[in-house]
Amino acid sequence: MDVVWFGLLVVGVAMLGMLAGGGRSREDIRAHRRWDAAFEHESRRTSHTDATGMLLCRSCGASAPERAGRCPGCGALL
Ligand SMILES: [Zn+2]
Repeated sequence: MDVVWFGLLVVGVAMLGMLAGGGRSREDIRAHRRWDAAFEHESRRTSHTDATGMLLCRSCGASAPERAGRCPGCGALL
């Protein structure tokens, strides 16, 4: 085998490896972000909720009805 072709082969394999690795790591980051968003959503959904349907405002600590969506005291999103 000619040494030039061998060199090209090595470079080609290395590039393929980098492409595959890069694609995989990008996919990993995306999956991780999806998981983070799902976890964040889940933790928000379950936080401060009890059977009365009242939520505690995370800004001022006042209780507000869950259906209102906003704190009556400071207007922050619940
Ligand atoms: Zn508030």
